[in-house]
Amino acid sequence: MGWRQARWREPLVFELSRPGRRGSAPIAVEEDVKRAVGGLRLPEGLARDSLPELPQLSEVEVIRHFTRLSQMAYGVDNGPVPLGSCTMKYNPRAAMRLAFDSRLEALHPLQGDEHVQGVLEALYKVQEWLKHITGMDACSVHPAAGSQGELAGVLVIKRFHELRGEGWRNTIVVPDSAHGTNPASAAMAGFQVLEVPTARDGNVDMDALKAALGRDTAGLMITNPSTLGLFEENILEIARLVHEAGGLLYYDGANLNGIIGRARPGDMGFDIAHVNLHKTFSVPHGGGGPGSGPVCVKSVEVVDGVTLADLLPGPRITYDEETGLYRVQPPGRWSVGRLRAWIANTLAVLWAYVYILALGPQGLRLAGEVSVVNTNYFIKLLEGHWAYDIPYGKGRPRKHEVVVSAKPLKLETGATAEDVAKGLLDAGLYAPTIYFPLIVEEALMIEFTESETKENIEAYADRMKEIAETARKSPEEVKWWPKNTSSRRVDNVRANHPRTVTPTWRVERLRREGKLGPLR
Ligand SMILES: *Cc1c(COP(=O)(O)O)cnc(C)c1O
Repeated sequence: MGWRQARWREPLVFELSRPGRRGSAPIAVEEDVKRAVGGLRLPEGLARDSLPELPQLSEVEVIRHFTRLSQMAYGVDNGPVPLGSCTMKYNPRAAMRLAFDSRLEALHPLQGDEHVQGVLEALYKVQEWLKHITGMDACSVHPAAGSQGELAGVLVIKRFHELRGEGWRNTIVVPDSAHGTNPASAAMAGFQVLEVPTARDGNVDMDALKAALGRDTAGLMITNPSTLGLFEENILEIARLVHEAGGLLYYDGANLNGIIGRARPGDMGFDIAHVNLHKTFSVPHGGGGPGSGPVCVKSVEVVDGVTLADLLPGPRITYDEETGLYRVQPPGRWSVGRLRAWIANTLAVLWAYVYILALGPQGLRLAGEVSVVNTNYFIKLLEGHWAYDIPYGKGRPRKHEVVVSAKPLKLETGATAEDVAKGLLDAGLYAPTIYFPLIVEEALMIEFTESETKENIEAYADRMKEIAETARKSPEEVKWWPKNTSSRRVDNVRANHPRTVTPTWRVERLRREGKLGPLR
């Protein structure tokens, strides 16, 4: 199954450029353009002194350049992408065909509601379906990412307390296994973040939670199943305690694969939840988007006649039974407001629309179940191996994902989780999420989703075992991985440093000509 990545350093299109080289264009068209441009008179001072520095290549060179670049990339169309927490699943081609439909691309968000009823209906239905899936009472597909859904959610918590005259509640409690966006969203909304530890059994440490709750508690943000893939066994008790303390419960449902169709945040006592359409609902992601992180609420009363639904961000899509029309409803008086331009990442929502429609309730449930079976099958393959350990909740079944620790491997051979990840790349496999969650040393966070076959999961486990054997036999070798990819091992610090990022060809050229200061 391994995907051999193309191995070469592809030059920039500017480096491939040669003066005067060009693609073909019908002569007649060219004459037309010349005539049109010749007739234009630009205002004084706006005309350039020299020609723009555009790359000059023949057509086939352009095609080959981009084809080679595409062969250097790896995605779920090449092989498994078992990035724990990120849920990289197969995207059905039917949804892609719809999303690329030229009729959709031609729409403009300022078109009148009456002219785009079909799209609005689809957005509305996703809002409605998500209510059923999460067990909530109202949803908004407005947020453009999971983290933006979270921000909306914590702003709802803030507004809730302010409207009730309890604006002094300034603390959000977050378990230490949380995704980094949870404390970040809470802090962005102006809250203090109080971290509670995870107990050895993988559940939240209840004594620490009780001690953390108090008069200043605004709410709790939690992922269930946690990022360890473990279902929080005390969730009902946690919900009771947080509500008793006067706080709201926020459910980070970015990854719903472990429980979809089986359990719902709304039934566990949560007041607010977001889901990522670009994870559980198959919308392709990576490289920063475009995503979609709808946020949903229970119809909890805030003050007289106002419920959490009135606080949701927007616009939201409503349905008017009288006229039979779907409407774009701008954010109202109580709403936390707009978070982005226009209505939503419409194509991403449509992608999820097709996925949900195609699978139906039974299909979604089955997808979740298969993903859980896949995780636990993988655990069985790795269990008892000398190099890998599965800390927290020993023996408890995992849901959608598992966090493996390469600490025993490191102690024995010096090879780290990063070395294992690079070794997987060399085998033409994709590395898992590493060094997250922070509470697991040498963490490898693995999630196959429902997309992968038994054989693929076995091959992945086999490769991880092979890597461990190589590390034992020749510990230096693993430090040179990857060898088979288009880039060798990068310097982690420099690769993440803004000064080393080359935003444009001009910056790159200045750097090469030594006209840009040394990198610091
Ligand atoms: C991915 C993820 C998020 C954040 O979602 P983005 O769309 O990347 O902003 C939050 N929580 C969990 C558990 C996640 O897996």
